Amino acid sequence: MPSSISYDQVMAWIHRFADVTIEQREELTRLDTAIGDADHGTNMARGMRAAVERVDALEGDDIGAALKAVGMALVSKVGGAAGPLYGTLFLQMGNATGGRSELDLAGWSDALDAGLKGVVARGKAEPEDKTMVDALTPAVQALERAQNDGADLSAALAQSAEAAHEGMEKTVPLVARKGRASYLGERSAGHQDPGATSSYLLLQAAVDSFG
Ligand code: ADP
Ligand code: MG
Repeated sequence: MPSSISYDQVMAWIHRFADVTIEQREELTRLDTAIGDADHGTNMARGMRAAVERVDALEGDDIGAALKAVGMALVSKVGGAAGPLYGTLFLQMGNATGGRSELDLAGWSDALDAGLKGVVARGKAEPEDKTMVDALTPAVQALERAQNDGADLSAALAQSAEAAHEGMEKTVPLVARKGRASYLGERSAGHQDPGATSSYLLLQAAVDSFG
């Protein structure tokens, strides 16, 4: 396993996430049917399809430019909460990686941290509000911990996906305090958050693409 992530691997990650959102569209929509308006799967699949079209038209090897293109596609093509929030995640990841054609573990960790900070700044969700933040926050923390422990890139990525998976599962008992699910109050408890689920899929796609 190499110790860095290339431009081509970032492109593979974007494609992989698009494929996964399409494969998992019905499952994501099923989750959003229980506590939302049954569109998270279609939103993400439509947005990532548009994102892939944009990045495939790019030339060069600027990781930041590719991530920003994904962010722009999501912001412009997806309505609702998740489009602008995922759009911000990718735009901020792009800002953190502008001009780079390769990322080491620290570069990846800093980029995801910047993306998460963007999501929080925009959506104002705190941990345990039952949102995508509940999967992304432990993922970023796991990357930072792995870095401090001197873990290699592949171990760090695996740990971040595992932490995102745990964070996703922990959304089940929570009462939603942000987004549409919060309109249900106590009735939102007992269901897994759709956005936390797609965020876990995003981190798992990184494991699959950076190996
Ligand atoms: P909408 O709720 O507008 O229909 P989606 O169904 O595509 O949009 O996305 C819903 C997901 O968005 C939720 O499961 C949650 O994870 C996430 N979300 C909603 N509001 C916020 C927020 N303020 N901050 C972070 N994530 C949020
Ligand atoms: Mg929805």
